[in-house]
Amino acid sequence: MRIHAIQTGWVQVRRNQILARKEDGLRVLRTIADREWAPPVPIHAWLVEHPEGLLLVDTGETARVADPGHHPGWHPYFRRSVRFEVRRHEEIDAQLQALGVDTGDVRWVVLTHLHTDHAGGIRHFPQAEVIVDPTEWQAAQGPSGILRGYLPQHWPSALKPHHALYKDGQWGAFERSMRLTSAGDVRIIPTPGHTSGHLSVSISLLECDVLLAGDLSYTQEALLADRLDGVAPSARLAHQTLRTMRRHVGMRPTVYLPSHDPGSADRLARRAFVEPIDRTQGPSAFPGAAGGS
Ligand SMILES: [Zn+2]
Repeated sequence: MRIHAIQTGWVQVRRNQILARKEDGLRVLRTIADREWAPPVPIHAWLVEHPEGLLLVDTGETARVADPGHHPGWHPYFRRSVRFEVRRHEEIDAQLQALGVDTGDVRWVVLTHLHTDHAGGIRHFPQAEVIVDPTEWQAAQGPSGILRGYLPQHWPSALKPHHALYKDGQWGAFERSMRLTSAGDVRIIPTPGHTSGHLSVSISLLECDVLLAGDLSYTQEALLADRLDGVAPSARLAHQTLRTMRRHVGMRPTVYLPSHDPGSADRLARRAFVEPIDRTQGPSAFPGAAGGS
């Protein structure tokens, strides 16, 4: 099995979005009000060459993001809290082509969640079986979906994703999972927090697992330090998932790959396992970080 890190451009958000300064109910407002930009981070999608078919995890952002009116002008988050840089040749279809892959040959597209920098390239895969968490699909619909930061108006109207239902039992520390492949070596696990229906994809190789974590945490460091981002709707759910994932990587040697972690592509290339130490048990490396739980 080969796994490719595909970077579909860059995104820049406010510092409070990457790491919430305070973990109270004002997190999201603080992200909107923040005037400090974090450094730009990569937008990754992942191509998995599996014997049963090609799997794409997330589709990255589209170059159309630069078109006037692509983002709703009235939306405070899109107005002031995010900047994208995606050139046409960085879009997922062009990058797959460069790898010698026809978009029509992709069997599955699994979306970790439906934010635009993960679902932005979905129009290129009308033939694929698209898999999304049902809670996520529901949350993204209509005007309230747009208010939550989704852009469903840009998805093909024919898009009818299959729902991830997690009926295939326990996987490591996660109580529920969905087997994607007959071999059972690709599993989808529910990891709500960053969004209400966020999921992650676990791929078992001979020597380790590769965990395609979407925005479960923006970095490996944030996972280990138990730090929330500044947009997660539920702090309780987000902490619960972070805790389960730390237990999980303690049970199974895992290369942990968030979509926007600048270190992800390198850790994939080096097969660098996440160090399974729960740092929340000791003094935090981050001033003001929430304690262990
Ligand atoms: Zn996201």
